Amino acid sequence: TRVHGNPRETRADQGRNAQIGILTDKDVAVHVHDSLVELMGNTPLVRLRKVIDGGTAGGRPQVLAKVEYFNPGGSVKDRIAVRMIDAAERSGELRPNGTIVEPTSGNTGVGLAIVAQERGYRCVFVCPDKVARDKIDVLRAYGAEVVVCPSAVSPEHPDSYYSVSDRLAAEIPGAWKPNQYTNQENPRSHYETTGPEIWEQTEGRVTHFVAGIGTGGTISGTGRYLKEVSGGRVQIIGADPEGSVYSGGTGRPYLVEGVGEDIWPETYDRDICDEIIAVSDKDSFNMTRRLAREEAMLVGGSCGMAVVAALRVAARAEPDAVIVVLLPDGGRGYLTKIFNDEWMADYGFLIPSTEEARVGEVL
Ligand code: PMP
Repeated sequence: TRVHGNPRETRADQGRNAQIGILTDKDVAVHVHDSLVELMGNTPLVRLRKVIDGGTAGGRPQVLAKVEYFNPGGSVKDRIAVRMIDAAERSGELRPNGTIVEPTSGNTGVGLAIVAQERGYRCVFVCPDKVARDKIDVLRAYGAEVVVCPSAVSPEHPDSYYSVSDRLAAEIPGAWKPNQYTNQENPRSHYETTGPEIWEQTEGRVTHFVAGIGTGGTISGTGRYLKEVSGGRVQIIGADPEGSVYSGGTGRPYLVEGVGEDIWPETYDRDICDEIIAVSDKDSFNMTRRLAREEAMLVGGSCGMAVVAALRVAARAEPDAVIVVLLPDGGRGYLTKIFNDEWMADYGFLIPSTEEARVGEVL
């Protein structure tokens, strides 16, 4: 049996810990965690009730949200951070007092910083100057060092954030670069945690899994597990910003953050998706606002995007379908953008409230 909140500690472990005197009081053994790292993963599934066309009244597919902002770092990326660090410690790539160097501006950095703090590593993150000041401040608040590089240069330029992170990783003694775009521990973390959690939480009844694709780690690892355990029955659906390569684009700019690419990362399994649904920025952001207002889920823009795709799947699925959609992060980092009417209006995304109920409708 697993104890909620700690993917690695079983009741048997707790019994042993109590016996050897680490935790002596039985109640304490059940209720106290040694660090936030133990609380990564095991996020809840919550049924969407209001944003579903026609509601949840009888005979409709269920759409269940896997709410990843319950992770201590506030996003799905905690899962890969702990797994990449564990593996690097085992292989000897990351040694005591080592330094973690990664080009990241957001969620992955927060996850890495939390694990690094627990284990005494230094963190140096490299980000382009277009990254919002708030995100850099969050990383610094956790004690990470942040190097800011110009974004108006090509990736090959020595000042680009890719080049600078490579140089720092080579120059700093004891440096290790997780590289979430090539590190197979990224999809593996989802194969070993996200996938089994969804299978157990739905008691094997999940029929569809919907997620956005950034590095592709989430959909590749979770998707592979769910395909294997269901004998190929679970359908895997990628949600992608219009213009990104995954849905056939060229990488044309879109505003939803954390998903879509202009390259094909090694962490994405190109055979995993049964279907990829492209979603516009406008639909993604308006659905994100509806999730906050109607479901009390204050989440990020890639969540709205994934929900639009999930609702399109629901509109044509069998009534007994169980559709799980993964919501990668919380919405506080987007208050000045998605949740700001002027910003939405500037981009032509703001719609009259009378039209809101139609956001994400099958076009
Ligand atoms: N949404 C957000 C906000 C993210 O930060 C990420 C990670 N880049 C994703 C979605 C996509 O996850 P993955 O990298 O596992 O494909």
